[in-house]
Amino acid sequence: MKNTQYFNLDGLNPDYLKLHTQCPICLAQHSRIVSDNVKTINEKSDLTIELRVCDACGHWWHNPMPEQQYLSALYNERSGFVLGTDFLDPMKDVRTINLNGSEACAVNYSDIKFKPCFELMTNKEFNYLEVGCGKGELFRRFRGNAKVCYGIEPGDWLDTPDILRDISQLPKDIKFDVIVMHDILEHLEDPLDMMVLCRSISNNGARIYCSFPNKDSLVAKMRKEKWDMVRPFSHLHYFSKKSTSILFKASKWKMITCQTFPKSSLYLRSRMTMGIFLKTIMNQHHQRYAIGIAE
Ligand SMILES: [Zn+2]
Repeated sequence: MKNTQYFNLDGLNPDYLKLHTQCPICLAQHSRIVSDNVKTINEKSDLTIELRVCDACGHWWHNPMPEQQYLSALYNERSGFVLGTDFLDPMKDVRTINLNGSEACAVNYSDIKFKPCFELMTNKEFNYLEVGCGKGELFRRFRGNAKVCYGIEPGDWLDTPDILRDISQLPKDIKFDVIVMHDILEHLEDPLDMMVLCRSISNNGARIYCSFPNKDSLVAKMRKEKWDMVRPFSHLHYFSKKSTSILFKASKWKMITCQTFPKSSLYLRSRMTMGIFLKTIMNQHHQRYAIGIAE
């Protein structure tokens, strides 16, 4: 990468930043710059990068972006380039989260992302894989129900043998029936590669549950690079309806659900101020929830 001597990189190694001008989802060659002045989430660094849009499928992504191995290393060392202060601050004095302890985070059962997964709770004969366990809320819930249960988390805060640092460390003889990938695809260098890999370790008929930012939303269209979801190098991808559809099809997942959220019940909130009302309206549908079946 050129001209990095002008930037305060706060320890980031520019040799591991890779240029991406081709669409990472539909592989079209033509893309345009939405903004060439997007700051990363690391406030100590003044590095700025591009937000690009694909002319063919409307997908947004950042250029350049760290290559995957380096990205995983940044998560492992809890770098401010990939983890925001909202995640890091409560973790300051936490070396490891004890998933069996009462201090582990509880699942918010009203969250749309957890509803489809809980449909599976009645069926105990499935192999479960969660890519990107975060603080382990959902993983902890499933661990008691699934026949086989593995998690992947590059961060070092979940110290348990069934949560691995990298997907390549999974036992080779296991195929999965349920794969959960909540808020993960936008964090990867190559989301298509991950979807293909997930399909290769799934049984026929397996289900994959994914959530990610929706760049077709009103707030994304209006605010572009100033949209709250635009958070490099934590977030690297923002999906359109078309890029979502291409992503699933190209990786041989038949998409059975693709819905947007949140959908707020505004009429229930009589004491809402005008400011909060407008913010709630603006932020509706800014994420997408998609479910696929392995064909
Ligand atoms: Zn594209």
